[in-house]
Amino acid sequence: MDDAFLPNLRCPLDHTRQATLSREDQVLRCSQCAVTFPIKQGLPILLVDEAILPPHIQEVSGLPCRKKRALRGAI
Ligand SMILES: [Zn+2]
Repeated sequence: MDDAFLPNLRCPLDHTRQATLSREDQVLRCSQCAVTFPIKQGLPILLVDEAILPPHIQEVSGLPCRKKRALRGAI
C-alpha cells in the first residue's frame, strides 16, 4: 500500500468525512473512533463489515464517528 494515499482516506463510519486514518503495521486506524481496518494484499479494506472495534466498544453504533451526527443534531 502506498502511504501517499493516506491523507485522502477517511473513516467510512464518519458521515462528515473528517476522521483521518493512520497506518499501523497491517491496519489503518481511525484518528477519531480508533476502529482499525485491515490491509489485505496491500489494499486497505475500508468496509464497515471488516472494521475491528476497539476493546471498549460493543457495537458500531457506539463509536465516536457514528455518534457525531447525532451529537451535532442535538446542539
Ligand atoms: Zn472512525
